[in-house]
Amino acid sequence: MQTPLKIAVVGSGLVGSLLSIYLRKAGHTVAVYDRSPDIRKINFSGRSINLAMSDRGWKALDGVGIGDAVREIAIAMDKRAIHLNDKLTFQSYGLEGESIYSISRGLLNRKMIDLAEQAGATFHFEQKIWDISLPDATLHIGETERGAWEAVRHDMVFGADGAFSRIRHRMQRQSMFNYSQEFLNTGYKELNIPPNANGTHKLDKNSFHIWPRGDYMLIALPNLDGSFTCTLFMPFEGENSFAALTDRIEVAAFFEKNFPDSIEVIPELAEDFFKNPTSTLVTMKCFPWTFENKVALIGDACHAIVPFYGQGMNAGFEDITILNEMMAKYGDDWKMIFSEYEQSRKPNADAIAELSYRNFMEMSSKTADDKFHLQKKIEKHFSNKYPERWVPLYSRVTFSHRPYAEALAIGDFQNAIMETILKMDNIEQIWNTAIVEEKMLELLG
Ligand SMILES: Cc1cc2nc3c(=O)[nH]c(=O)nc-3n(C[C@H](O)[C@H](O)[C@H](O)COP(=O)(O)OP(=O)(O)OC[C@H]3O[C@@H](n4cnc5c(N)ncnc54)[C@H](O)[C@@H]3O)c2cc1C
Repeated sequence: MQTPLKIAVVGSGLVGSLLSIYLRKAGHTVAVYDRSPDIRKINFSGRSINLAMSDRGWKALDGVGIGDAVREIAIAMDKRAIHLNDKLTFQSYGLEGESIYSISRGLLNRKMIDLAEQAGATFHFEQKIWDISLPDATLHIGETERGAWEAVRHDMVFGADGAFSRIRHRMQRQSMFNYSQEFLNTGYKELNIPPNANGTHKLDKNSFHIWPRGDYMLIALPNLDGSFTCTLFMPFEGENSFAALTDRIEVAAFFEKNFPDSIEVIPELAEDFFKNPTSTLVTMKCFPWTFENKVALIGDACHAIVPFYGQGMNAGFEDITILNEMMAKYGDDWKMIFSEYEQSRKPNADAIAELSYRNFMEMSSKTADDKFHLQKKIEKHFSNKYPERWVPLYSRVTFSHRPYAEALAIGDFQNAIMETILKMDNIEQIWNTAIVEEKMLELLG
């Protein structure tokens, strides 16, 4: 057991609220600050943005015994449903019984704040943190950036305040603090597929739906109320872009031409398209993540990534798992805890940033490509036969707790092997024969 401290968590998002439960279980006094109103008091239909939760996320939730409470609001997706212009195909994500889970961000966040309060954390909403004095973990809270601020001192502060963190902002002004931020030229917009009149889903409920179209794509994840939240990812500028769709007629024509089977399931297409914002996507990296034994960044505040692997929240939750392991190992030696935490997490955060960036191509282009389907078939066939020799990259990232950096390195090695295999004569015909197997075993060494 650690000596109890007075700890502040800035940000009551998914990572901040889960972290506060862990810190309470370790015996600390925990105050969570958020600039936004209490999400439990805001009206939303439950149809809001959804996220895919996978094994790393579940491990962190189960680690404080709240996994089952969250499973109640999750929908299993065991496969991709790939909507091509002329056909619909399915591709399972992993082995029998392996799924990722669609969860409404709003419902999840509400539930986690409830659970954190039950665990004894106190929440302070509509409290904007403008700055922090790092050496004495003092938060500066106020209504406006230029108005009066109140100084609230703690023993320790965690910055779980997201990609544009104010806590990180102060750390950036330290010498030897590295920081980079890169926006994609692709943005996103959310759309909605409402439920059928009887409350059922209009598309297969247990699939992650993708309409891959090269440099743009549409995806849809199921909600509990029978609806789907769709996200259109598309360049800001150019031929097929947000800038090119300026009125209702253009939007309707674009969807009719490129996503014909979506037309009848998105009745409010044009309304939603112009009502909902077009948002940006950013990769943010920085280091160090901690300041002495006083301040630590966690979640998107230290590693914001693009969403194409569905791992941002999962990676933030895994930060908490690792931090907790270090707390168990080093007791009151917080300098050591912080040092080991950031050393362990940084290479993995960089690896999942890279994998997420690359996965846009896999989702938006390769899922429409016959060679890619053949590659997946060969990998699946081989890994069923030699499970200890070949775990596909997607499974290493999604259905495993091994480090992301290891998944990236092994994934690159496997990809080089598959490039050779796909060049074999008549591979379309011999893909499941002993010749291919032997070649793969030989290349694996
Ligand atoms: C389109 C999209 C799809 C995604 N899909 C997935 C997915 O399928 N799976 C997945 O794992 N991840 C996904 N992610 C990533 C995921 O949303 C983030 O990684 C996750 O929300 C990070 O949680 P967080 O708590 O670190 O930060 P945030 O969720 O950003 O929370 C930060 C909190 O801090 C508060 N705050 C900020 N500044 C201040 C301040 N100055 N003072 C007080 N409070 C402050 C904010 O109000 C907020 O409540 C997706 C992201 C996007 C954009």
